[in-house]
Amino acid sequence: TVGAVALDAGGNLAAATSTGGYNNKPAGRIGDTPIVGAGTYARNGHCAVSGTGKGEFFIRYAVGHEVASRMRYLGEGLDAAASKVIHEDLKPHNIGAGLVAVGADGSISAPYNTDGMFRGWVLTDGRAFVGSHSEVFEVET
Ligand code: ASP
Repeated sequence: TVGAVALDAGGNLAAATSTGGYNNKPAGRIGDTPIVGAGTYARNGHCAVSGTGKGEFFIRYAVGHEVASRMRYLGEGLDAAASKVIHEDLKPHNIGAGLVAVGADGSISAPYNTDGMFRGWVLTDGRAFVGSHSEVFEVET
């Protein structure tokens, strides 16, 4: 999966996700990636979310929408809402899962429960970072 989230200068939030699904998936399966509210979701004023992990669970929990709803209705911050979904809601299912998210205030969150989620981000001041589960590096843009 490759996921991206963005906040533009006008306050617009956007999310995009690309995936090949998973190995040995059933023919005709449609995962969570193209389902708005599951693997991909953005709502101005709240957040943009792109997820990776077993899509059936992202659909069941409407993960992207759930993160935005926790912010909207419970007043949670982005990282609290995103972490709750990854580390609590999905935990009993024992699936590798993660997401990248940006909030309307420019905050970022990328909770995950697997070693395999590499990520990068660019801040409004132009500084750029890439990271794995163990290290984060600032990189030239
Ligand atoms: N979420 C994708 C799917 O279930 C798999 C992935 O993370 O690449 O189709």
